[in-house]
Amino acid sequence: MQTKTKGLIIREQTVGESDKLVTALTEDFGLIKAFVRRAKTIKSQNLSATSLFAYSELSLYRSKDAFVIDNATAIEVFFDLRRDIETLSLAQYFAQLCIFLGEEEHPSPSMLRLMLNSLYLLCQGKKSHSQIKATVELRMLTLGGYMPDLTACYRCGTYESDIMYLDIEEGCVYCKDCYRNNAVELPLAVVSAMRYICLADMGKVFSFALSDENMSTLCRITEKYLLSRIDGRLTTLEFYKSIT
Ligand SMILES: [Zn+2]
Repeated sequence: MQTKTKGLIIREQTVGESDKLVTALTEDFGLIKAFVRRAKTIKSQNLSATSLFAYSELSLYRSKDAFVIDNATAIEVFFDLRRDIETLSLAQYFAQLCIFLGEEEHPSPSMLRLMLNSLYLLCQGKKSHSQIKATVELRMLTLGGYMPDLTACYRCGTYESDIMYLDIEEGCVYCKDCYRNNAVELPLAVVSAMRYICLADMGKVFSFALSDENMSTLCRITEKYLLSRIDGRLTTLEFYKSIT
């Protein structure tokens, strides 16, 4: 049955001589794999609409083992991601996170919105890569069911102390009186930013400010937390780190 949805292409692979297989994060079906038939011979308009990071109106139908895209119209191609290799590789890292944390054929409009907003911000170039990366990592984990419990000290319920400790393994925080071995010391501002990222409206999730020092602490800690929760090798993160 023919159907239409909007989707962001997050991976493309060539198959055989002229087909390609894409992974798209769609509005109505979540993550899907879809063949683009005769990718090299269809109109060039369709081709750019099914290229990596194109957000497009997709016309598709389900065949035996996968969807098939037979028509596509680009809504936004995020051309400026190609401005430099660092920006592009960060976008590729976010795409890989979607593949790790998204569910096939399970709609996740929030994940799609987070991805689109992060790509807009990367193109705009006004927010730091650290802030965009930390926000995507933590919010994506939250959407994937790995939200840390940052509400209050896990032992005594204290909401705020000037320094708090994050137990990465347990995914919870302690106040300075309840400090535990192996927990990472964090300034309250960083814990507050993490609470914000987990819970803010999706449209405002990137709208917070931190000092440079706290921002780099946040970035380090969200990555560490993410690596503790993801099972598998994040080659795109390794690449991004090798060039920055
Ligand atoms: Zn406590």
